[in-house]
Amino acid sequence: MTTPLAESVRVVITGLRNAGKSSIMNNLFEKNVSIISDVPGTTTDPVTRKIELGNLGPCAVTDTAGLDESGELGLQRKGKSLERLKTCDVVIFVSRGDKGVDPEERSILNNIILQKKKLIFLLTCSDLESNPEKREWADDYYPILINNINGDGFKELRKRLDKVKIEDNHELTPVEGLVNEGDFVILVTPIDLAAPKGRLIMPQVETIRDLLDRDCATLVVKERELKQFYDKLGVKPKLVITDSQAFARVAADIPHDQPLTSFSILFARKKGDLDLFIQGIKAVESTPKGARILVMESCAHHRQADDIGTVKIPRLYKQLVRQDVHFEFTRKMPSDIELKDYYMVIHCGGCMITSNVMKDRVEIIKRSGTYITNYGLFLGWVNGVYPRAIEPLYR
Ligand code: SF4
Repeated sequence: MTTPLAESVRVVITGLRNAGKSSIMNNLFEKNVSIISDVPGTTTDPVTRKIELGNLGPCAVTDTAGLDESGELGLQRKGKSLERLKTCDVVIFVSRGDKGVDPEERSILNNIILQKKKLIFLLTCSDLESNPEKREWADDYYPILINNINGDGFKELRKRLDKVKIEDNHELTPVEGLVNEGDFVILVTPIDLAAPKGRLIMPQVETIRDLLDRDCATLVVKERELKQFYDKLGVKPKLVITDSQAFARVAADIPHDQPLTSFSILFARKKGDLDLFIQGIKAVESTPKGARILVMESCAHHRQADDIGTVKIPRLYKQLVRQDVHFEFTRKMPSDIELKDYYMVIHCGGCMITSNVMKDRVEIIKRSGTYITNYGLFLGWVNGVYPRAIEPLYR
């Protein structure tokens, strides 16, 4: 239950309104998680709950609004449901067994198949007379017959979930392949106004835990104390990992041959496509006159006066690359058409989203022909520690 959402297998329950999705959710959790009623469209916003599901391990199961919603609000809900669908690992597709095939559900299912999602097809209302057309359509997908009233079919659903294999879901851990048992690593974590009160941020915590899991020793210091402690060390650290914003100070305080990288670069490798981000960095110098640059973040963190995405990066870009570029900021993924107007996207570390969501974003940006890089690489480049900061990852 303590596994972060970003690390859980994402299971989405989808289908038309009143197909029985919320009852599936409640029966799966064996308690009332979603509100159910006979009125179509009772579920408005996606409802996500965590559960441990057999071989899948920690899962985040989401009950979504019906995909046949209409009207202005309904279309917004449908958009949210489709977004969840795009980024999930397993789809539980729910359709009423007693009704004919709706063209909308046919097209949704085709899309799910095209996206190569793991699919479990449920035919609900198994206590009612089944519709022959629906049965014939569903038979290709090995449907499970479900009775939401007496729970028939749920044993089979759990069995089926237990057998799902998420082979390609392996997300690298922060220091996977970079350290060995017994290595010593320094982490530099500035505690400035941007740092949350009383705690470390997720990339720092995850990295510490990963190092401990790998039987490594770690020293966590602020950038101000780094030199003082580094100079007293009797052993050379295998790696120094810093917050990207402290790159310049850290690089100046440690020897030139000391392997150095940043949390953000580790997360670019873990979640995104580091090679593509490097291509993006190489394209910074060729930024054309008047180019539009989009800064993209993945969560609504509290902004400070000298905020990295909206203030620091635009300022550095204008100072060091060219003055006449136009910066815009977003947390929402623009459409393919909108993306084509940008020369470059500079993305945050994406620590709050799954690698699937990040990879989806990267793929769409790549398809649009727009360059993409991330905060860590850009800050490494402007601070003169590129390519040094990526070298430890390519050894
Ligand atoms: S998701 Fe992005 S913006 Fe949010 S905390 Fe992580 S790196 Fe920062």
